[in-house]
Amino acid sequence: MLTFDQIKGQDTVIAQLRRSVLEKRIGHALLFAGPPGVGKGTTAQVLAAALNCLQPWEGNPCGQCASCRLMISGNHPNLYRLLPGERSIKIEQIRQLQQTLSYKRWGSGYKVAILEGAEALTLSAANSMLKILEEPPSATCFILVTDNVSALLPTIVSRCQKLLFHQLSQSVLQELLREHGLEPERAELLARLSGGSMARALALAGDEAFWEDRRLAREYCRLLEEGDLWESLELAALLEKRHNPGQILDFMEIWLRDLLVWQLCPSARLLINCDCVEEIANGRYCPANLQKALAELHLTRRRLHQNANKRLALEVMALKLSRELPAAKEVTG
Ligand SMILES: [Zn+2]
Repeated sequence: MLTFDQIKGQDTVIAQLRRSVLEKRIGHALLFAGPPGVGKGTTAQVLAAALNCLQPWEGNPCGQCASCRLMISGNHPNLYRLLPGERSIKIEQIRQLQQTLSYKRWGSGYKVAILEGAEALTLSAANSMLKILEEPPSATCFILVTDNVSALLPTIVSRCQKLLFHQLSQSVLQELLREHGLEPERAELLARLSGGSMARALALAGDEAFWEDRRLAREYCRLLEEGDLWESLELAALLEKRHNPGQILDFMEIWLRDLLVWQLCPSARLLINCDCVEEIANGRYCPANLQKALAELHLTRRRLHQNANKRLALEVMALKLSRELPAAKEVTG
């Protein structure tokens, strides 16, 4: 069974929760907010186990007692987990939760209701939840988990004790990925590419399309550097056919970002594409032109996001980059 000790990279929140368990002073409504995949859901489950454990040590659940065994089996009568069904949490689910919470609790611990994806509460469900929070049942702890606080009713947010989770640092993420059995080089690369989210890093590890998009992005950047207009237009057509052109643009942006970083401060530690240091170090580019190319990529991504004509947006980008990138490269003559 996981303990607070094993949750990495969220020291402030964990210290606070551990203290609450030790002092047996837990708020009736907690809001776990922060980016996806950084340990909010796991922490909620550890807290639920700790609040019910019969022989906790240093605020951690023991993993051995009758309560912990029930937690491990997923059948603890004091634990309720509510997940969005069909992308929303409906009022019927909240009513059902309220009904279930009215039953007698098991042992002397806390009933813990975890609402994962709390931003998915419909308006009526949120109002119903608000009523519960205004008159909370005794010995009950609600944990609302969200990666989008601004989508929650402000009245709900104000009734909760807010605990902020942060992006995982690169070193923490790298360590966690290695513990998951990833090769050190791949763990390092994924830690840099996944924006501080363990869930994203793990999802990407086995996602072949992701690695293929990354390979293509580098190929496209090299092709655009040659400045051939005809080839650039063909490239736009190829990009349009890909399942997720936005992801290729992301990778192109990361690639150009690395080229730019190297021109300004040549340190491998600062690169995201840490497996391509040699190739990046061999290039000489004009930073101003790289910045223009990056701005163009950024603009194209926004256009795609706003549902502009995809083909047209990609063609305009390809044409502009086929001018900016050779200009950036020509700086050394
Ligand atoms: Zn226990």
